[in-house]
Amino acid sequence: MAKIPEHKIEQIKDYNDIVEVISSYIQLKKKGQNYWAKCPFHDEKTASFSVSPKKQIFHCFGCGVGGNVINFVMDYEKITFIEAVKELAERVNVKIDEFSVSEKDTSDTTRLYTLNEFAANLYHNSLFSSKGKIPLEYLKERGLLKQTIEKFKVGYAPDEWNFFNNKYDKKKFGLDVIKASGLLAESKEKIYDRFRNRIIFPIYNLKDKPIAFGGRTLKKNEKIGKYINTPETPIYHKSYVLYGLNITKDIIRKSKEVLIVEGYMDFLQLFQNGFTNCVACSGTAFTTHHGKIILRYAETAILIYDGDDAGQKATMRAGYILTSQKVNCKILVLNKEDDPDSFLQEHGAEKFQKKIDKSISFLSFLKKHYKFDKLNATQKSKIVTDIIDEIRQFSDQIYREMIIKDIAEEFNLEYESLLKQLRKKTFKSHDNSPQIHIREKNFKNQSEAAQYQLIQLLLINNSKTRKAGLKYITPDIFSHEFLSEVVAKVLGIVNNNDDILPEQIPEKIHEEKIRRFVVRLVMELDSIIEPEKTLVACLKQIEKQMIQDQYDDLSKQIQNIKNDDKANLELIKQQVKLMKDKKELEKIYTLDILDE
Ligand SMILES: [Zn+2]
Repeated sequence: MAKIPEHKIEQIKDYNDIVEVISSYIQLKKKGQNYWAKCPFHDEKTASFSVSPKKQIFHCFGCGVGGNVINFVMDYEKITFIEAVKELAERVNVKIDEFSVSEKDTSDTTRLYTLNEFAANLYHNSLFSSKGKIPLEYLKERGLLKQTIEKFKVGYAPDEWNFFNNKYDKKKFGLDVIKASGLLAESKEKIYDRFRNRIIFPIYNLKDKPIAFGGRTLKKNEKIGKYINTPETPIYHKSYVLYGLNITKDIIRKSKEVLIVEGYMDFLQLFQNGFTNCVACSGTAFTTHHGKIILRYAETAILIYDGDDAGQKATMRAGYILTSQKVNCKILVLNKEDDPDSFLQEHGAEKFQKKIDKSISFLSFLKKHYKFDKLNATQKSKIVTDIIDEIRQFSDQIYREMIIKDIAEEFNLEYESLLKQLRKKTFKSHDNSPQIHIREKNFKNQSEAAQYQLIQLLLINNSKTRKAGLKYITPDIFSHEFLSEVVAKVLGIVNNNDDILPEQIPEKIHEEKIRRFVVRLVMELDSIIEPEKTLVACLKQIEKQMIQDQYDDLSKQIQNIKNDDKANLELIKQQVKLMKDKKELEKIYTLDILDE
């Protein structure tokens, strides 16, 4: 990884006001000291996502995400730390070259991009070389225009084991990066080209950098896959990437409507026919992440998958996902033998537009797909149960019930009984976002609440409290497993740097779950009014609970050995001592501990 000097990162953070940066992604509303919004990382009705201009951090009280301005850009754009820092640097015109000094220092990630860029150019040029005659002819036959091929840098990997393997600079990229790229395959210490005799479709991220490749074979051999894709790499996570979006995103945002197809060829055909508000989800099934990305750009999505059974099944899956993300989902149904590519070539753009205009709602698609009207009562009831089971997975209750209302209308059923069925099975929590289940009300007892506050007291920038805290707070007095993990981390940081500001602490923590949690604690610090008194009270509370637990333990033992008076007496004696200890606590824990 590249090392960006600490002071550079600080500078970039200083220049980028968190409120300004986040405002460029979502709408914030000022309320009190902080800004608020509906969280972009989880579904919610009311705003629990807050940004503190003072502390320059954000936190969602609903799903627990949080951090500084760099973390936000990383989380929102799904990019790496280095990428986020670079993006923020560009935003405020800090020169990137200043910290990517020598080639040696260039990060693996950057080298991966460069290697992919090199491969994309190599394959693209090979399509127009003597080796590319047959594939180029093939693409022309399939109706692709030269300008489309060039715009999307379609290429060709010749039928050779070492075409790419012999061309790149082995020294410059290094074996780790080369292996990580997925461009080569490996067997018994032999490395060779993954893509051979295939048309190559480079897949770009939103910054127009090639991150992966899809390859379509030219062989009519049943044994090899028609399409292969780059496997997951450090820069390619297929469930987050939509093909073509780097080029079409602004068009989609403007039209608020997106056409979703399955294949590269479908996409290119649509695009060159003027249907430029489209994306393809290639090389993988449609995922929830895809759905979230779509929601960022469009209100309505029209799924245009192949007309065959597999295509219709995939439509159903994607339809549920889009609907769950509150995207208005419509379906363009093609005949069994058609796909978007073949339809456009055969019937032209005008007819295709008419088809788009006639696309149907997802629920009518389901009804049609199941041939609902022709089913008997038992079959109907089974289908409806299946649909409701899907709807039950949606995270927002009001939304679930709204969909049920639509189902009642579409399928001509009674709303009330559907609603009953929806509510019948116990709800599972389906929020996929990382949850930290520590809310005050969730604490098992007062001691756990005190443990929570003790961590805050270590965070607070009050030297007296922090000093006493460092002396008295240790992870082993924490009964709550997660909190003890958190406090161990915080102690480690504060111990080495006892005048560190609260908002600087989270960024020193690498474990995401802990970091996010600490951000939340920092956000809430303002609510602590008398830190010194609180420290004393919390320490006392925790020890009280420990004594109480021992006492209860003894009581249980006493119950179990009713007939042995001697043993019993011993236990009771111990209990009496514990009661005394408990009283002593009042004398031990006073404000004096802060002056020691
Ligand atoms: Zn959230």
